[in-house]
Order: sequence, then C-alpha cells, then structure tokens
Amino acid sequence: MSVLIFADQAHGKIKKVAFEAVQYGARVAQQLGVSATALVLGEADSAELEALGNYGAAKVLHVPDARLNEVEGTVFTRIIADAAAQEAAQVVIFPHNFDGKAVAPRVAARLKAGFVSGAVSLPDTSNGFVVKKSVFSGKAFANVNITSASKVIAIMPNTFALEQTDAKAAVTAFSPAINDADFKVKVTSVETVSGEIPLTEAEIVVSGGRGLKGPENWGLVEDLAKELGAATACSRPVADTGWRPHHEHVGQTGLTVRPNLYIAIGISGAIQHLAGVNGSKVIVVINKDPEAPFFKAADYGIVGDAFEVVPKLTAAIKAAK
Ligand code: FAD
Repeated sequence: MSVLIFADQAHGKIKKVAFEAVQYGARVAQQLGVSATALVLGEADSAELEALGNYGAAKVLHVPDARLNEVEGTVFTRIIADAAAQEAAQVVIFPHNFDGKAVAPRVAARLKAGFVSGAVSLPDTSNGFVVKKSVFSGKAFANVNITSASKVIAIMPNTFALEQTDAKAAVTAFSPAINDADFKVKVTSVETVSGEIPLTEAEIVVSGGRGLKGPENWGLVEDLAKELGAATACSRPVADTGWRPHHEHVGQTGLTVRPNLYIAIGISGAIQHLAGVNGSKVIVVINKDPEAPFFKAADYGIVGDAFEVVPKLTAAIKAAK
C-alpha cells in the first residue's frame, strides 16, 4: 500500500508545486500508515530526485526518457496508472497546475477513482475521507468525501507551506513499456508569454495595480522585476481592462503566489487581492495613500508616488549590484 505522487519537472528541475505535492502526499501517507512514493517522468538532475526525500518521499520512481520531458496526456496517464498498480497506491496526488490538469482526471478515470481537484486541505479521515477544495474560482470552498477505494487528489499550488528535512529518497528506475507510436501529440516548440520566470514558481514577485494608471507605465514594474530577477503580476482590474494578460492576475479569482518577497505597487490591498498573496514571506507595499488597506498586511511600506519611488528603488538596486 502506498501514496503515489506525480512530481512534475521542467528542464530537469522539479517544480516547487511538485515539492508541495510530495509533502502533501507524504502527510496523507502518514495518516494512512503507508509509504509515499514520488514518480518523475522525463530527464531530471539526480540531486533534484534525491531532494524529493526532503519533503517526505521514501522512494522515487524515475523514468529518464527524453520523450517524457514534455507532458503527453495519453502516455503519462498510462505510465502513472501502471506505477500506481505496481506500488498498490490507494491515493494518487497531483499538483493542480497545467500538467496536473491535463493528466489527473484521466488517471482518475482509468483507476475508477474518486477525484478532487484544487484541494486546499489534508483529508479529514475521522468520518470518511473528506477533502476541502476551492470552487467557483476561489469564491467558496466545498468539502468533498471521496468514497471510492482509489482516490486522486490534485492540490492547489502555493497553498501548503514547504517544510524541508535532510532526508534523502531512494531513487529507482521505472521502465514502462512505451514506444513512439504511443505518442499521439508532440510539443514542437514552447513560446514564453510571461517573461522568463513562471509566476507561481517565482521567489520574488513585483506586482502592479490600477495606481499605475495605464499599460504604458508597466516599464516601471518590468524594470524593477528585471533588476530583482522577479516575475511580474497584477491586480484583477488591471487584467480585466486588458493592461496586462489574465495569467498575471493574482488573488482570490486569480493565481495564488507564495514568494519570499512580494512587492505591490499602486495596489489598494482589497481582501480579494490579499487572498492570493498573503502567504508571501515578506510584503513590501508602495502606495501614495497612507490609509491604503494593504499597509496593514505589509512588512515594509513606502508611502509615496510610485512614479517617483519605483525608478529610485530600481536604480538603487542596480547600483548596489
Ligand atoms: P484600486 O483599488 O483602484 O487601487 C489603486 C491603488 O493605487 C490605491 O490604493 C491608490 O492609493 C494607489 N495609487 C494611485 N496612484 C498611485 C501612485 N501614483 N503611486 C502609488 N500608489 C498609487 N482583485 C484582485 O486583485 N484579485 C482578485 O483575484 C480579485 N478577485 C475578486 C473577486 C470578487 C468576487 C470581487 C468582488 C472582487 C475581486 N477583486 C480582485 C477586486 C478587488 O476587490 C479590488 O477591486 C482590486 O483588487 C483593486 O485593484 P487595485 O488595487 O489595482 O485598484
């Protein structure tokens, strides 16, 4: 018996959300008194594989096949289902990200498993197997009891804070029977649309709100982000009015981020915005209104005009390098 976790990688590096999924899976395994096994598909650094042990995986199954570097739904489904059978996994955990969304429902169908996506809590096993999930784009939560023997859970990214140990995982090769004909689609190229750093993985996020007045002023946000090696984000009205693309919108109805540093420029700090960012380790708020609610959630606040403060901050960071 075990819990199997699909540990998503990109360019050989395990994604942060995959570490979150592994930690979640290890805690579920502990609840059930079974062991946690992570599954990595595609080429990956060996140190990265071992590091999965830091988050509770006792064992890592690795399929070091370059054809699996990008997700192919049909093939991934088969391999994950085969690994679940080999490991006698009662529960299979996915990140609720792009790759997880492509594969988790198919694995659930194949395993005839009850499926919960967007999980925001560990299962409550006191009366069934009840998992809390985010519904209606984060406007509400539902408690779902998974009654089937097999269970598939996809966890919401950036919801579970990571806690690392020194434990290392035992890495074992897994050799599923796949051939070229199994690959029905192939990724031929990838175009990055939101800068180099994916928002949900970023350690530093620079975010802009309506206080920036218009898209023509976004250079302010981008220049600061570039100096800090940060990803860029925005408040919802900024995305709604088309100043920035929707995939940059953070908050209750957008992405949840949990970076080490979140810098909010010209954002008022409405509760719906805070819902997506208040897990950040350090929050810096730049706002010209000293009464802006965001200052209450800030670790550091600068009361001032963004058009004066931000260029000075960017220049100071550049000079300090
Ligand atoms: P504003 O509220 O207009 O604030 C602009 C801020 O900029 C003000 O504080 C102002 O003092 C400051 N400012 C102005 N000029 C300057 C300057 N020159 N220099 C410095 N500061 C300046 N919002 C989200 O962000 N994410 C969500 O996911 C989200 N989901 C929602 C879901 C629901 C159901 C609802 C009802 C609302 C949701 N909202 C969400 C909207 C939210 O309630 C706020 O309206 C929104 O966050 C406000 O965006 P803002 O702070 O950019 O704009």
